[in-house]
Amino acid sequence: MRIANVTGRAHLVAPLGAALYGVEIAKISNGLFGPSVFDLLEDWPRFQEWVRLNDPAVTTEDALVDPLELDAPVPFPRQIFAIGMNYADHADEVSIARPETPSVFTKFATSITGPHAEVVLSSAEVDWEVEAVAVIGRRGRHIEPAAAYSHIAGLMVGQDLSDRAEQFRNASPQFSMAKSYPGYAPTGPWITTVDELPNPNDLTLECHRQDGVLQQGTTRKLLFDVPTLIAYLSSITELLPGDLVFTGTPDGVGYGRDPREYLRPGDRLISSASGLGSIEQTFISNHSGAIE
Ligand code: ZN
Repeated sequence: MRIANVTGRAHLVAPLGAALYGVEIAKISNGLFGPSVFDLLEDWPRFQEWVRLNDPAVTTEDALVDPLELDAPVPFPRQIFAIGMNYADHADEVSIARPETPSVFTKFATSITGPHAEVVLSSAEVDWEVEAVAVIGRRGRHIEPAAAYSHIAGLMVGQDLSDRAEQFRNASPQFSMAKSYPGYAPTGPWITTVDELPNPNDLTLECHRQDGVLQQGTTRKLLFDVPTLIAYLSSITELLPGDLVFTGTPDGVGYGRDPREYLRPGDRLISSASGLGSIEQTFISNHSGAIE
């Protein structure tokens, strides 16, 4: 299943041919679930059971959905976890030691934006980080790695946009603030349930700009894979429905290049993961909104 947020209401969607079709979950369940994606996630185990019994499907008989109408699947999660240096090549390119346990920071909730957002650049040193993002569907603490995917509603594409000037202003880097400007957490285009993926631990990640490829990687190379992250996070905090886990970025970020390279006003950034779809952001200058 693919679950999208269409103007605030949870929809089952399916890309069929070149178009996107969808049905509203509150409608097809006679009001049992929804109306928002967050409401649906709060009731995720019961919804899974309903899906098993009713086998809902989207066809070309259903309504067309304009991809530009899609909002962030979870626009205001209670907790957002993000993992730093979770690929060896990326840890090396930013010259930070490979961690021995997951290195966790947060992106504050107001940084969330949708799959087709325009983002205001906070400085001339804003960087890209394509990531796979896990969405929690079942609350839990002390979750065993083998049970991790039963707590995950699905996966989506995310960008962990990062202001490197803010991040490395002090000798000790500061992650959470540097990565929490408005719009610095684009997510989407929808939540893909794990059963849609041949192997949820082997997704190809790609990030392109209008002038070419910036990042190419695979989640197979995560230092701490998704089950390990869920086990680690839940050994300390309770994971709640709708919580997000940004799982880390592969190499190819602008900060790791020589010379360093960053996003410019007018840039178009396309981030994708195999089986999860793609998101696209455009960037504008932080002064007077004019494109330089
Ligand atoms: Zn990141």
